[in-house]
Amino acid sequence: MNQAVRAPIDVLRQVFGFPDFRANQEEVCRAAISGRDVLLVMPTGAGKSLCYQLPALARGGTALVVSPLIALMEDQSSKLAALGLRVGRIHSGLDREASRAVCRDYLDGNLQFFFLAPERLRVPGFVEMLAKRKPNLIAIDEAHCISGWGHDFRPDYRLLGESLQALRPAPVIALTATATPVVQDDILNQLHLKNAARFIHGFRRKNLAIEAVEVSKPRRAQLARELLTREERRPAIVYAPTRKEAEETARVLGEAFPAAAYHAGLDPETRERIQRHFIEGAVQVVVATIAFGMGIDKADVRTVIHIALPAALEGYYQEIGRAGRDGKPSRTILMHSYADRRTHDFFYQRDYPELDILDRIVKSLKAEPRPADEVRDALKMDAEVFGKALDKLAAHGGAVIDFEGNVTRGNTTWRAPYSAQSSNRQAQVEKMMRFTEGARCRMAALIEHFGDEEDSGRLCGICDFCAPEQAIAQVFRPLTDLEQRTVMDVIRTLRGTRGSSVGKLHKQLFPREQMDRDEFETLLVSLARGGYATMEEATFETDGRTIPYRKVGLTSEGEELTETPPELLLPDASGTETQDRSRKPARSAKKSSSGKAAAPSSAAPADDETPFSPAEAEREKRLRAWRSGEAKKHGFPAFRIFGDKTLRAIVLERPRTMDDLLQISGIGPEKASRFGTEICSICTEG
Ligand code: ADP
Ligand code: MG
Repeated sequence: MNQAVRAPIDVLRQVFGFPDFRANQEEVCRAAISGRDVLLVMPTGAGKSLCYQLPALARGGTALVVSPLIALMEDQSSKLAALGLRVGRIHSGLDREASRAVCRDYLDGNLQFFFLAPERLRVPGFVEMLAKRKPNLIAIDEAHCISGWGHDFRPDYRLLGESLQALRPAPVIALTATATPVVQDDILNQLHLKNAARFIHGFRRKNLAIEAVEVSKPRRAQLARELLTREERRPAIVYAPTRKEAEETARVLGEAFPAAAYHAGLDPETRERIQRHFIEGAVQVVVATIAFGMGIDKADVRTVIHIALPAALEGYYQEIGRAGRDGKPSRTILMHSYADRRTHDFFYQRDYPELDILDRIVKSLKAEPRPADEVRDALKMDAEVFGKALDKLAAHGGAVIDFEGNVTRGNTTWRAPYSAQSSNRQAQVEKMMRFTEGARCRMAALIEHFGDEEDSGRLCGICDFCAPEQAIAQVFRPLTDLEQRTVMDVIRTLRGTRGSSVGKLHKQLFPREQMDRDEFETLLVSLARGGYATMEEATFETDGRTIPYRKVGLTSEGEELTETPPELLLPDASGTETQDRSRKPARSAKKSSSGKAAAPSSAAPADDETPFSPAEAEREKRLRAWRSGEAKKHGFPAFRIFGDKTLRAIVLERPRTMDDLLQISGIGPEKASRFGTEICSICTEG
């Protein structure tokens, strides 16, 4: 047994065989080694496990590790065992004898790591057994499961708060990839950690270009297929809300490229096979329900598509985070429409039964334990409704379920926390909806949501807010005259004020609803996208309730706008035409006058940097001049003819016939027939 504290870097190299720490690992390890409680929030794949494993070894003795899933536990314990470490684990998949042997090993001090499922803590005497030999460190993996505010609440995690007291003074390391500031506070409260060091890091992903697009449900599978037809956009993961939709979408995609559905309804061998084929490349697109992706290590996923609105930003961020682990440019597309809200309302009503249903159950509970089924039969309640309601009661202490599944009456204070959790659930969907409206940089919005305090908050430069002309799922169009006039009305009304609520402004400008509120809001978003306005979520209090609303105000650029309307872009309802894009992502072609950051250079492929030869430079000049003349003639922005990426491709390929021209990505038949003759003649000239 190694009792002396070892230097972190030595443990890293000697035990784990890694040459260096990754970002933030060393400082987290140091805090834990010194005995401090730690809350660590870093995205999946960042290397959180090392942050409890290394300190555990450096401190010597046994570390307890609580983990919510057998699969995660098995994965981690076998990895540690492979490093030659002594590891024990105990979960429902093991028989009694094996469990007993592990406990003996623990008490004899033979283990370096002891993995537990949280429901073990419910077994009478178990915590007392653990306390006979105090651990040197306690790690709580997926710690967001303890919080009713989080997206993956596990009632058994609540037992930890109590149990930990008996196992202290070991430092507690709580780890999670998805905790908003509210959830972070809740984790620390539930675990009674008053003085923990918080490390919240690494949420910015520089290579993810995020898009959200309104698409009616029936069109989504087809659009996903169109988008993924380009080979360079695969491998891809498509997230579907139900098994049926996963199957159906996989069928549609499978007509164009190798695709498979993946969901919890498939048998384990099939799932394992699909996963393997995906990793090896035989399956290029997996259409999955949320069961897919945990523990999957595939670095080159180029595209993640959601064909339904996720229930919360936490899960959404984790899922899009599976794109581009190799650091190369990747794109994520969220398809949504108002119909998604109705689906979520349905789930909400199913999962959060009315208070009177919970009350009926509570009234029927006694001090003596009774089997849950007996309680249900007596109440003549539908099994699903009863199950959901009892879960909620157990989570908030209104009912107590023992290890055998018997129920007794619990506390009388469950109502308030249940109501809070229930309204939080609704607020999460609300936030998700807000996110789709896209009044600001997508990445900046997500980072702010997660509370990464060290992040600069700068614009990503590549999402559909920052670089609409690069979006693939949505074509943007210039404004109509009416829209232009409305924009100028908005600017005049807001000029010199400190902003206004969107609803009030809409009523003021369109007292008779001449323009629909949604349409109006989309216009405001376009102003924000152009850098002339900001939109923020605000709240006001009335009758003790907090009402959210949206506020719009001008930026200094907006204040300075005189009578010339700005050049803005709106999502084109008729167009999700996907052929109109060149093959390679390039730097933003957008003017930088709006003060926005340019796309990070890491997102631009090297050949974009190659300078033109003199002949090419000459050709480029002529093509540009022709393009801007043409744009003026038709009264639309130059990129509508073709973007800079396509321009560059034309310069380099020098097409001289229609056939040549059609080979260039970004030029479809329509453009070729409209502008082809002229482009080819410019290229023939030199
Ligand atoms: P998380 O729990 O944050 O999702 P993991 O702890 O599972 O991430 O780590 C992800 C991967 O990174 C693992 O394969 C792990 O071995 C590897 N890893 C962790 N730290 C380092 C390091 N310092 N150097 C190289 N690889 C590392
Ligand atoms: Mg992990």
